Amino acid sequence: MTAQANTQNTVPTVKLLIGGQLVESKTTQWRDVVNPATQEVLARVPFATLDEMNAAVASAKEAFKTWRKTPIGARARIFLKYQQLIRENMQELAAILTAEQGKTLPDAEGDVFRGLEVVEHAASIGNLQLGELANNVAGGVDTYTLLQPLGVCAGITPFNFPAMIPLWMFPMAIATGNTFVLKPSEQDPMVTMRLAELAMEAGVPPGVLNVIHGGVDAVNLICDHPDIKAVSFVGSTKVGTHVYNRATQNGKRAQCMMGAKNHAIVLPDANKQQTLNNLLGAAFGAAGQRCMALPVVILVGEAQQWLPELIEKTKTLKINAGAEPGTDIGPVVSCSALDRIGSLIATGIGEGATLVLDGRNPEVVGYTQGNFVGPTIFSDVTTEMTIYREEIFGPVLCVLHADTLNDAIALVNANPNGNGTALFTRSGAAARHFQEEIDVGQVGINVPIPVPVPLFSFSGSRASKLGDLGPYGKQVVQFYTQTKTVTQRWFDEDEVGGTVNTTITLK
Ligand code: NAD
Repeated sequence: MTAQANTQNTVPTVKLLIGGQLVESKTTQWRDVVNPATQEVLARVPFATLDEMNAAVASAKEAFKTWRKTPIGARARIFLKYQQLIRENMQELAAILTAEQGKTLPDAEGDVFRGLEVVEHAASIGNLQLGELANNVAGGVDTYTLLQPLGVCAGITPFNFPAMIPLWMFPMAIATGNTFVLKPSEQDPMVTMRLAELAMEAGVPPGVLNVIHGGVDAVNLICDHPDIKAVSFVGSTKVGTHVYNRATQNGKRAQCMMGAKNHAIVLPDANKQQTLNNLLGAAFGAAGQRCMALPVVILVGEAQQWLPELIEKTKTLKINAGAEPGTDIGPVVSCSALDRIGSLIATGIGEGATLVLDGRNPEVVGYTQGNFVGPTIFSDVTTEMTIYREEIFGPVLCVLHADTLNDAIALVNANPNGNGTALFTRSGAAARHFQEEIDVGQVGINVPIPVPVPLFSFSGSRASKLGDLGPYGKQVVQFYTQTKTVTQRWFDEDEVGGTVNTTITLK
């Protein structure tokens, strides 16, 4: 049942975008894009040939010659138009996303919307890409900085946010004057392609944005190609580490946002109902396939007694196809993801965790072929267990206990990942202590999924991130530009030149 190449010609094909043209790949290697609620084959995606991938990079390299000099206002206006087009097409984009990825329609709109916020930010590039100037650093001498684009940049994206994460990447790269080659996830490339088409409609010139499809070969080409200057990756830790090492060894800039195992800490003074509701959304929403999901909850002290109520509330969540109104949890992305989650649940039982809510094999009327797994809760989980150590990426919650906030903080900091975390409390002092001591990139205080808006940059600690700079916000302007300092002096017309030893004396 896993996605195999469908040989029927009736299924539409996903195109490449090279030099401003949507191109039918000449490859012999294809993969089906499958609706995870029904197993319907929606499209076939090509694994681009080497020639096609090289053509995409060549077209980006050629386009850079003129794009890098395009006035900043002209670049900004394209993104003003682009945000408008995304808004106008929001429902269509969400429907495509739900069909190929499985998340609910409101969640799919959220996926597009969070990307749209980055596009809006890209429209302010005039302010974001300003340099600095120091007047009179020496007599008659000024120094200023130029933030200049790098050249061809590339992005590699995961399946779980096929709208938001591509939009984290190419708008800011292009707005800063670079050209771009994007490789979306081969599992759900259709909404990404629609976004690329809208970018062209908004006025992104031919060659400035290119899209190739594929898997390992496409990723390795991006890491190796001498004309690609910077690589932005979002996906699993295993692949991200490979990308980071390979790209940086080849002299490229790289930033890799990677895997997670996010913990919520619940103190007994927290608002109980709000906390439990927030936990449900963060643990089980999007079928647990968010890098900022909360798959681990540490109940501190008397908060341990909240577990039965958490289980009862969880039972009220509705499992159904993402396109059906009222759905809380849609299918997971693929049959292989479903198999993996099922096998990890079995391992959890085998290793001695207590399965207090078993979501396996839920009955979903009308969608008997869907990749469904309902919300699942384990208690008595220890840090040695596989279900604690592995990123399950499904609607499976591990509940642990701690006696004190400090014990809980130590637990979080001992986990290899540091993507997101949240504390639920009414105590300002506890919240501040948590904020100071926790070693995690995104910290929420009574906020379950604290993804920063694009005024800030996405972050990550330890195994969740490689590279210094985040994928959007202010940091990404630095990532996609080279700072040049210019120190200049202008002579008065009647000055008669300098001596042989004319140097600038910095006093
Ligand atoms: P993935 O690592 O399997 O795939 C990501 C990209 O790498 C895809 O484009 C894929 O084609 C490519 N790829 C897959 N296997 C490869 C290989 N062996 N060699 C080279 N390239 C390969 O990730 P996924 O399953 O699509 O996405 C889920 C993962 O992404 C989770 O680990 C999740 O935590 C992580 N993620 C992290 C963030 C973040 O911001 N930290 C955001 C979203 C997702």
